[in-house]
Amino acid sequence: MAKRDYYEILGVAKGADAKSLKSAFRKKAMECHPDRHPDDPEAEARFKELNEAYGILSDDQKRAAYDRMGHAAFEQGGGMGGGAGFQDFGDIFSQIFGGGAAGGGFSDMFGGGRGRQTIQRGSDLRYEMEISLEDAFTGKDIDIEVPIAEDCERCDGVGAEPGATIETCSTCGGAGRVRTQQGFFTMERPCTTCGGQGEYVSDPCRACDGQGQTRQQTALDVSIPAGVEDGTRIRLSGQGDAAPKRGGPGQRGDLYIFVSIKPHALFERDGPNLFCRAPVPMTTAALGGDVEIPTIDGGRSKLKVPEGSQSGRRMRLRGKGMSTLRSSQRGDMYVELSVETPSKLNKRQREILEEFAHEGGDDISPESKNFFDKAKAFWDELVD
Ligand SMILES: [Zn+2]
Ligand SMILES: [Zn+2]
Repeated sequence: MAKRDYYEILGVAKGADAKSLKSAFRKKAMECHPDRHPDDPEAEARFKELNEAYGILSDDQKRAAYDRMGHAAFEQGGGMGGGAGFQDFGDIFSQIFGGGAAGGGFSDMFGGGRGRQTIQRGSDLRYEMEISLEDAFTGKDIDIEVPIAEDCERCDGVGAEPGATIETCSTCGGAGRVRTQQGFFTMERPCTTCGGQGEYVSDPCRACDGQGQTRQQTALDVSIPAGVEDGTRIRLSGQGDAAPKRGGPGQRGDLYIFVSIKPHALFERDGPNLFCRAPVPMTTAALGGDVEIPTIDGGRSKLKVPEGSQSGRRMRLRGKGMSTLRSSQRGDMYVELSVETPSKLNKRQREILEEFAHEGGDDISPESKNFFDKAKAFWDELVD
């Protein structure tokens, strides 16, 4: 799934200007052009990748979105207008190389099919949802409100005031796009006469500004499954924007819920497992004993600390981790012990510890002994 960085694909620095972008693209695209490597799927894949990268980075708006959000800006439309679709490549390539450079095969491969009648589709929508780790553990139904584009009620999606006249654009014959021949390529551009609308409306609808659609706050109930991971995308099919009615038959877009999980005060998550750093009194660490550890389900677990435990010791509480998607299994919880040195001692405590220190010897501090043995060897070597 990991997509390569667009700058890396083109081999340019992040701040590269338009000119160096273009020349880098030109150079690399020539190397792996499908005409030079017929029947080489790897070259074709590289070529597609290059086109996609250049399509985004050569467009100031898309580039800014990419710099801000990375690939997420263009995932499945993501409300960003879909990024550089495969069908745009013919145009990009011909703009750079000029008409005939790429040859007829290229035109067939990438330029064809653009004039095909496509079903209109409403935009996909993106909704950011932040939940707690506890909610990710249990799963939760969450009510949200999303502004979704629907047919304007005043004009029934037509975009005209009642009684207004609508004329078909004579330049494009109502299609909203015009095709021109340039070398081997057929290019299609939005019609400039009618601004791509295909028609003129004498009196645009006042409720929707002639758009035919308005956004309406729509309440939805989203079911977050137990075990959901940070960064999960939940697709609600057909719950996005309605397709504009004017364009003929259409299909609604999708709504994507992007789930992020808030950092937790006690637990860190690694997939199905949890990690917790627990302080242990020095005496418990030395003598052994039980400590109580909080668990993500709201309960507590008893952890047996073995005699002579050091800071950094990791222990496992089996089955006390996160829930997992579509399974009744739970991960584990790893507890890292952090031995706490007593502070603010009273007189009596100080006396006891001083007495303890006098009793002490190498044997009770194995790590110190090990450390100073190594230090001694180090100093001895310097003397030699
Ligand atoms: Zn309207
Ligand atoms: Zn037109």
